[in-house]
Amino acid sequence: MRWLEKIDPEIYQLIKAEERRQYESIRLIPSENYTSAAVMEATGSVLTNKYSEGYPGKRYYEGQQYIDQIENIARERAKNLFKAEHANVQPYSGSPANMAVYYALLEPGDKIMGMSLPHGGHLTHGWKVSFSGRFYQSVQYTVSKETGRLDYDQIREMAKRERPKLIVSGATAYPREFDFKAFGEIAQEVGAYFLADIAHIAGLVVAGVHQSPIPYADAVTTTTHKTLRGPRGAMILCKASHANAIDRAVFPALQGGPHNHTTAAIAVALKEASSPDFIEYGKQIVRNAKVLAEALLEYGFSLITGGTDNHLILIDMTSKGVTGKQTAKALDRAGIVVNYNTVPFDPRKPFDPSGIRLGTPSVTSRGMKEEEMRLIARWINEVVQNIGDEERIQRIKNEVRELCHHFPPPGISL
Ligand SMILES: *Cc1c(COP(=O)(O)O)cnc(C)c1O
Repeated sequence: MRWLEKIDPEIYQLIKAEERRQYESIRLIPSENYTSAAVMEATGSVLTNKYSEGYPGKRYYEGQQYIDQIENIARERAKNLFKAEHANVQPYSGSPANMAVYYALLEPGDKIMGMSLPHGGHLTHGWKVSFSGRFYQSVQYTVSKETGRLDYDQIREMAKRERPKLIVSGATAYPREFDFKAFGEIAQEVGAYFLADIAHIAGLVVAGVHQSPIPYADAVTTTTHKTLRGPRGAMILCKASHANAIDRAVFPALQGGPHNHTTAAIAVALKEASSPDFIEYGKQIVRNAKVLAEALLEYGFSLITGGTDNHLILIDMTSKGVTGKQTAKALDRAGIVVNYNTVPFDPRKPFDPSGIRLGTPSVTSRGMKEEEMRLIARWINEVVQNIGDEERIQRIKNEVRELCHHFPPPGISL
């Protein structure tokens, strides 16, 4: 980055500092990851200079000799990897991808049914402060109070009662596997479309550790930067019968020119995700999460649903006598980065909730395994028991930094 250093030393220094932070901390935010150097090279390429409104073979600008090939490769790789009939790789991110599916399949004011945000759903699944709760009539299902899990009988009953035009599955804070087949059947029973949003778990689906929604869903959306470990972006995979409507919703209805540098980086990430190494990566993410969960349970932490099937863990901190925010802030000072999060039926407010959310995609990318997970659980416990003891927290931070130097993350060399 020698040009950046010369032209804008202020931004250069901040990027270098962020690079060091990512290198020297244990990043447990489940939606984050480390992309490869190859993905970053594609993201930082001249493709950012090019306008390409339209789709391969049908553009509104000339000079698409290479861009068309890149987008075709990205689309083909996406279709092959997920065994989908059609792929659109242009959505700018996960939220616009969901917006495009609604735009393609619904009219404003139609009824959608998604998982409630405080129970783990995403803003774009019909939450009231989102466009999705404003432009559509929204009804929301929750997890069961007894188990913390989705109750498919309850979801079926609600669908029969409410008759939504579209049902969404997917979550940002649900530690268990989804039954996409059940969602597909419920949607069929009530004549609704089924959208499966796999933003968090796409990498686990690719690795075969979680069920794929492709056979059951009208459309599947995913971000490309979470467990899929690509650039910031998104894709929509759908049945051939919806291809035209989906493509027209992304462009020209909602977006202008695609971000070609991102498209190329998505292609690179999809190639990486097609390798046997990636399948092993996906499996290790889950093994790591299960070991981390076990160890935290042994320290007396209260895990929502009592454990995890995927890459993430949701903890109710109430029994430890601290809030989610206090915990997250103390852990951050120790170099362990999580986020505070609501837990189902949380009596506290979203900006100061009872829980924390953590996950293993990033630490697994840097090669950490079961042994390191037990160590991380020990540090988490030590921090929580010593909130306010800054000297102790600083000592843990030093240990964390030392461990991190033994596990250099992809894409960063200090
Ligand atoms: C992250 C996420 C999104 C949105 O992605 P952005 O890229 O942040 O817009 C949508 N749905 C789910 C389930 C997510 O986890």
